[in-house]
Amino acid sequence: MTVRFGLHSRFLAVVGVALLVLLGVVTLMLQRQDAMQRQVIVLSQQSMHALVFDRLQARGQAVVVQLADTLVNPMYYFDLDAMGTVLRSVQRQPDVAYVIVYDADGDVIHDGSSDISTYGQPMADELAVGAVSASALLVQSNSTLLDVSSPVLIGEERLGGVRIGYSLAAIAADETRAMSGMRLRLDEIGHRHAGWIAGMMALLMLMVAGLSLLLQRALVRPIRELADVAGEIEGGNYAVPVPRSSRRDEVGDLVRAFGRMGEGIARHDREMRRMAYTDALTGLANRLAFRETLDRRLMELHGADRALALLFADIDDFKRINDTLGHDAGDEVLVHFANRIDEAIIREGGPGAVLARFGGDEFVILIEAPAAPGEDIRTTASRLAETLVAELQRPLMVQERQVFLGTSIGVTLFPDDAVGSAMLMKNGDIAMYQAKVAGKNCFRFYSRAMDHAVERRVQIEQDLRGAWDRGELSVAYQPVFRLEDDRLVGAEALLRWQHPTQGMVAPSVFIDVAEQCGLIEIIGPQVMHVACEDAIGWHAASPRHADLFVAVNVSPRQLRGGDLAEQVAATLAATGLAPGLLHVELTETAVIGDELRVSSLLSRLRRSGVKVWLDDFGTGFSGLSHLRRVPIDGVKIDRSFIADILRDPDDLALATAIIAMAHSLGITVVAEGVEHEGQRDVLRERGCDLAQGYWLGYPMDATAFAALLSP
Ligand code: C2E
Ligand code: MG
Ligand code: MG
Repeated sequence: MTVRFGLHSRFLAVVGVALLVLLGVVTLMLQRQDAMQRQVIVLSQQSMHALVFDRLQARGQAVVVQLADTLVNPMYYFDLDAMGTVLRSVQRQPDVAYVIVYDADGDVIHDGSSDISTYGQPMADELAVGAVSASALLVQSNSTLLDVSSPVLIGEERLGGVRIGYSLAAIAADETRAMSGMRLRLDEIGHRHAGWIAGMMALLMLMVAGLSLLLQRALVRPIRELADVAGEIEGGNYAVPVPRSSRRDEVGDLVRAFGRMGEGIARHDREMRRMAYTDALTGLANRLAFRETLDRRLMELHGADRALALLFADIDDFKRINDTLGHDAGDEVLVHFANRIDEAIIREGGPGAVLARFGGDEFVILIEAPAAPGEDIRTTASRLAETLVAELQRPLMVQERQVFLGTSIGVTLFPDDAVGSAMLMKNGDIAMYQAKVAGKNCFRFYSRAMDHAVERRVQIEQDLRGAWDRGELSVAYQPVFRLEDDRLVGAEALLRWQHPTQGMVAPSVFIDVAEQCGLIEIIGPQVMHVACEDAIGWHAASPRHADLFVAVNVSPRQLRGGDLAEQVAATLAATGLAPGLLHVELTETAVIGDELRVSSLLSRLRRSGVKVWLDDFGTGFSGLSHLRRVPIDGVKIDRSFIADILRDPDDLALATAIIAMAHSLGITVVAEGVEHEGQRDVLRERGCDLAQGYWLGYPMDATAFAALLSP
């Protein structure tokens, strides 16, 4: 971790260093002052001492000279009393320690006392020798005494001398007293001085504290606040309140500029978000936005006893619109769909429903609450899905063309099916896929069984790859008879898969998978090739059946590939089959909605001589009128209409109408799924041309079919 050294700390550090330096200087100054004081005291003491000493000396000299004069007569006459009187008067003077009169040999004559106790004794003190030997006025001193002596003379003759000793102790005491007074005053001055300096320092500290506070308020705090807000913004919180300032200085300018910048960033972020969260084409929420909404709702519902429903709607065969009418038309369809879904949701989606486009042709709806009180969410979801299927299959006008489309819807429920958003979305997708598998244009609720179905599909897809090369796939043939004379006129080629472990797999199961994953584009042409080869074989084996046709199922995906005509031509050329003996079966749903392109493709096929049949007729939504618009040679009435033809008058009426309509357009009619003789009879009676079904013949392998031909 790096230690931050901010503006404030830096200021405090600089001020601290300055204060330290100042403190040093002041201390030095105080020390100098102290030394000076001491010096002043020493010097004053010296000069005072000198002054006092000089005065004392002068006084002593004057007194001694006068005394020497006064003592001449008493000494000459050896008048001890007179001497005593004089000496005692001197003794009374201040500071006088002793007064001694001595003879020429230095022995004491008088010491001022009444009994003269030292009389006749030689003077033994250290200054005595100097005094006795001196011929004139002499001043001597040691540390405690000032000794002034003078010889007493009468004419030239020396009678002796006199000495006065002044005690220096009293002077020293005076000096000390004076000095201590002076020291006291100096100390007082020094203290006043120090107090003044301390006051100045305190003032300085106060100023520094004030300055620091000002700096903190005026500069550091606003900058720190800006830094905090910048940190928040950096972390993505654009809603953080941007600081405001009414200050009319640079910091105020900075804060205002920062505020504008913050608002700019927030605005930019909102714009980016809006762009990132909406689908540009329809203006609906997009996958990201939906995902976040869902996550939020799920979080809110956590623990609450509430349910949600998700509807995944996928337009059936939407790619066809893009491929045939162009992307502009595709976009138009999507916008129409979005509007229709939105309207349906407003009517039946319940409060708070959310619609999003997941890209491509996928729409997702989140239902948050039942549409009616007391209803459960499942009912609401179910009704909405039903409405959507009905609404979205209504024809659309796109580029002045009527387009028929359907929608497959998967529904999943929270918390029944899953509690996490990812799982819910996956379930919705699976359910939608199952709706497609179930024939499209319908809705399915998710169930756990679907997971297995999906797994199974993935397994089938894996197993199906390379199945042809491994010889697991084969072609079976179902005979087709002319009803008029029960003559065998052709065969429908039907793909069979002998799975190595699962045995026979129904085409209804694997054809769909092959279709979804695109494998049909590889397998389809192979089936056609084999069928054409087998047909050639039958013709060669049985000249009676030289006009036997073979019908091959072609998947919508092959049709969409666009090169069906070329591929068919190549197969015919490679096998040598006459074009008129190859029938191509297309489902009704593959043809509707894309008539223009399909029509031109079918025309090309028919021009080459190949016949085109519309398979499973009646199960789509095109209606009979549709027959007029696509160039075909025949229709195969779906077996669901044939199954009940003897019992259900509606089915019979429909079959009869198809036959009549087709004939009026010059189109052949084939009936599928004839399982009883009665069905054959009634179809024959209604003028149906051809028929196939278990009663007439089961699908069988090529060898069995060939055997059928031999007489
Ligand atoms: P489809 O073209 O309608 O084929 C007729 C289906 O009806 C065949 O089922 C046939 O076995 C069955 N069927 C015939 N007579 C009767 C009857 O009297 N009663 C009943 N209940 N069914 C009868 P299959 O073979 O299971 O084929 C199902 C579908 O698979 C076919 O329907 C066709 O759409 C598709 N299919 C089969 N082979 C191919 C192929 O090679 N390519 C493509 N693209 N699709 C194929
Ligand atoms: Mg068929
Ligand atoms: Mg059919």
